Amino acid sequence: MNSQEILIRKPLGGFLTLGGKRPAVIQTMCNTHTADVQASVAQCLRLAGAGAEMIRLTVPAREDVKALAEIHAQLVALGCNIPLVADVHFSSDIAIEAAKVVEKVRINPGNFHPDFDQARAQLARLVAVCREHDTALRIGLNHGSLGRRITQLYGNTPEGMKEAAMEWLRLCRELDFDRVAVSLKASNTRVMTDAYRLLGEAMQAEDFHFPLHLGVTEAGNGESGRIKSCVAVSTLLEEGLGDTIRVSLTEDPAAELPVARHLSERYAGLRKSSLQSFRAEDRIAHAVYAPCDEDATLAFGGYNAVQVRLMLDAACDFGKKIFDREIDGVTVACPGQSEDFCRHIEDELMQACRRRFYKSEYVACPGCGRTMYNLEKTFNEVQRRTAHLKGYVIAVMGCIVNGPGEMADADWGYVGEGNGKVSLYKGKTALRRHVPEAEAIDLLLELIEADPERKDR
Ligand code: SF4
Repeated sequence: MNSQEILIRKPLGGFLTLGGKRPAVIQTMCNTHTADVQASVAQCLRLAGAGAEMIRLTVPAREDVKALAEIHAQLVALGCNIPLVADVHFSSDIAIEAAKVVEKVRINPGNFHPDFDQARAQLARLVAVCREHDTALRIGLNHGSLGRRITQLYGNTPEGMKEAAMEWLRLCRELDFDRVAVSLKASNTRVMTDAYRLLGEAMQAEDFHFPLHLGVTEAGNGESGRIKSCVAVSTLLEEGLGDTIRVSLTEDPAAELPVARHLSERYAGLRKSSLQSFRAEDRIAHAVYAPCDEDATLAFGGYNAVQVRLMLDAACDFGKKIFDREIDGVTVACPGQSEDFCRHIEDELMQACRRRFYKSEYVACPGCGRTMYNLEKTFNEVQRRTAHLKGYVIAVMGCIVNGPGEMADADWGYVGEGNGKVSLYKGKTALRRHVPEAEAIDLLLELIEADPERKDR
């Protein structure tokens, strides 16, 4: 699909171009509290230094718009020419105020007025301000927060995500406003790729060419988060879908950028796979990789750059083939890499494509200014303590506002409430509320063990 180019104003002059035939723009999101101006400015500078081309900050409340304006002003004074994006969920009034301050605003239509005519009026007011201030918009839909009307009509499905996006893109067209990107994120890689593919077809049919923002949301961390992001995003980029990428990891946001850069450069023809040879036999691909480590920023945790390069390349080389059932498996080999490491990557690849599950599936949001506890540490601990369980989807979410909706189809959820308290969910039901953080993982395990519907009994 050919997307149209849209221009995102840069704070110190000039434009960042999204779409057309350009390499996908790489972006990330601060996980500081927006109200903490100093910490947010420092993190933005660090992310800009690490290669972010756009940086998003959450704007949960009206007071945060003031902080956002201050962050923007300080960054400009420091010569930082990166467009900022306000992430606004529940209030079109906050979106309107934010649109006067930063270069782009992300809205979630699922959180706009449930009555379509009223939602249209809210959008019209926002677009008028965007036009006046030269501000771009992202229509950012998420699996799990599509809003009641769409969910009643289509279910919480890729079809529903596509329909919701098309409704809002038609409104933008009616309003003659096309400085708009669109995203349909999901933590389930299958749901995410299906939704974007459906949207690509629907846009083509109506001659719409809005740029696509790609991302697997709540992908988790470590090798799982990276491989999930790469199989899904590379599948779409290979099909010509995608103009900007955010790799969501429950880690330092700077760690997202080398992975996004890898994807962007690869599909812009600027980076080749380190795949040396492969043969297919009985629907299994046997791949041999060259040890390749030119990008030291890829290293994380206990993995060096050679190993990370191998996992990202294998995910990009074979993700689409596994998704589309062209092959049923893959073996990887690389001189100097152990059997155990290679088998682990194969397992992760099959699980990322949702073809074979060797462990529970983890969903964890990347955290943002709404996060009320040490998400990364807690997520690692939840993974460690539940490593013996198989067949579950276990979610760890940073806030009670968006967490329960966005953990979508998780079996169990650990959701931060703030003030050191946690809610524990089974599916969509909060089984326990206001649990002190220090007791929450033990209680989660007790609930899973005692569950009469326990899957792995
Ligand atoms: S679920 Fe996580 S990333 Fe989403 S708004 Fe809440 S804390 Fe932020």
